[in-house]
Amino acid sequence: MAQIVIAEEAGACYGVERALELVLTASESVEGPLHTLGPLIHNPLVVRELEERGVTVVEDAREVEPGSTLVLRTHGVTPEVKRVALAAGAKVIDATCPFVMRAHRAAERLERDGYQVLIVGEAGHPEVEGTLGHAPSAVVVGSPEEAASTELSKKVGIVVQTTQSKENLLNVIEALVGRTEELRLIDTICEATSGHQGACERLSKRADVMIVIGGRNSANTTHLAEIAQKNCGRTHHIERDDELDPSWFTGAELIGITAGASTPAAQIESVRERIQTIVG
Ligand code: SF4
Repeated sequence: MAQIVIAEEAGACYGVERALELVLTASESVEGPLHTLGPLIHNPLVVRELEERGVTVVEDAREVEPGSTLVLRTHGVTPEVKRVALAAGAKVIDATCPFVMRAHRAAERLERDGYQVLIVGEAGHPEVEGTLGHAPSAVVVGSPEEAASTELSKKVGIVVQTTQSKENLLNVIEALVGRTEELRLIDTICEATSGHQGACERLSKRADVMIVIGGRNSANTTHLAEIAQKNCGRTHHIERDDELDPSWFTGAELIGITAGASTPAAQIESVRERIQTIVG
């Protein structure tokens, strides 16, 4: 009989669990409309469940009406976005992950202390945009090549998008060493991401089939799927358990499951149960 193994570290991280709890509590207690700024997490199922509880998504803080409540998601926002919502007469519940806030504070501090701030991360990603809002003169570098072509000051301070890989960070640092007088790193990579990736790497090396659960628009889930695919050719990225195709499991002895940081435990369990029903 096939064995089904869930990666040691998989699914919703501390920041996502905390944000979900804040919104669920708010949906039972606040008066007036309740919105999230953008989808709370990159998980269509969860977003739909929240909609059923009356939580709607607005794409811009300027859309909120007086008397409403706006929840800021784990990725964080610029100080300006918060100001706009408050000025519109809305209440704000800040669900920014504390680890992202740490990156905001680090960037602010470095800029105040006269460092040229480099944010190692993906330009345009909401988390990076939020961090930029806290250190407006910062420069975003996504790769060692970009770091190599960036003109440097005498004092350079680095903060990192929480979901970056250590490998990319080390390569960027290598491209900077020797080109400035002082290079300071505040390592703001979140351990949840590297823990998920490490567990996925180990499991996918043993598995005959890997199932990766999470939104297709979720960067960290897509990255898990890439890691799994590298080690296990029979990798499938799904959002819902009804996407599982019984033919995927033919002849498989070990079926591995992992899930992105925005996948609640209940979704992982329902996928596990469905696979169990398929393989018997
Ligand atoms: S992955 Fe880390 S930084 Fe991002 S929300 Fe989860 S705990 Fe916070």
